[in-house]
Amino acid sequence: MKRSIRSLINMTNAAKTITASSLHQRMDADYWPQEFSELGFAFNNMLDRIEESFSRLRSFSADLAHELRTPINNLLGETEVALLHPQTDYRQTLESNFEELKFVAAMIENLLFLAQAENPRLVLTKEKINVAEIIHRIKDYYEEIALDKNIEIDIQGHAELLFNLEMFGRMISNLLLNSLKYTDQDGKILVNISHTKDTVEIQLKDNGIGIDKIHLPRLFDRFYRIDEARARDSGGIGLGLAIVKSIVDLHQGTIHLTSKIGVGTCFTLQFSR
Ligand code: ADP
Repeated sequence: MKRSIRSLINMTNAAKTITASSLHQRMDADYWPQEFSELGFAFNNMLDRIEESFSRLRSFSADLAHELRTPINNLLGETEVALLHPQTDYRQTLESNFEELKFVAAMIENLLFLAQAENPRLVLTKEKINVAEIIHRIKDYYEEIALDKNIEIDIQGHAELLFNLEMFGRMISNLLLNSLKYTDQDGKILVNISHTKDTVEIQLKDNGIGIDKIHLPRLFDRFYRIDEARARDSGGIGLGLAIVKSIVDLHQGTIHLTSKIGVGTCFTLQFSR
């Protein structure tokens, strides 16, 4: 049998054996005739990508179960204790359960948003938006938190951008709320909007607690939080930046950050107009 035909049969047999539980297998393309080696490498690269997606999905399911366990256990525990004491004033239990349920509901809502954003059949409706006007509106919405911590929010510049309106609000809200959460009393947040003929850049800079660079590779991952206890105290679910990244990707933009512990953090978003 010709060597090339034998290689093709080997390749077919190898492809037939690959299942979800043996995604680590690769074709031994090194010894193949030249005309097939490129196909073999492309196939192996495809397997690399599929294996990576499977592994992300696996750890996502594990993280999700872990994240849901704590609030659900708290709800169970509180309810069980209250029921053991028929004379108890249930109001306190209901109030505490209400807080847990709000947390779980927000998590589910965020996860649904991510699932929809990743649906390849999603049709984005975009419109021309006035960037500064919407950021001012979001600033007003968070005025109470800013006043409470005496944080000044300064918005400069303007631009128009073709974007999904709801997603733009969500993206900026997540970043601004993070800056408010992770900036101490009397801090300052600067939002700078600039544009060229072809691009729009939005920079959000705070003088908050900052982020160590060891966290940067995983910062946009779902459920990734630097200080779990502190993040959860401030209502953090660990999905905010994952959502920001998915919105940026959907609009073919880029997001970068620079940060220094104790000095502050600066996120830079860039989009084509
Ligand atoms: P969370 O809901 O916990 O805020 P995010 O995905 O929005 O989750 O952010 C992930 C983590 O990144 C946060 O837990 C926080 O530690 C860190 N982080 C995000 N933004 C800032 C910021 N502006 N300053 C300091 N740390 C930040």
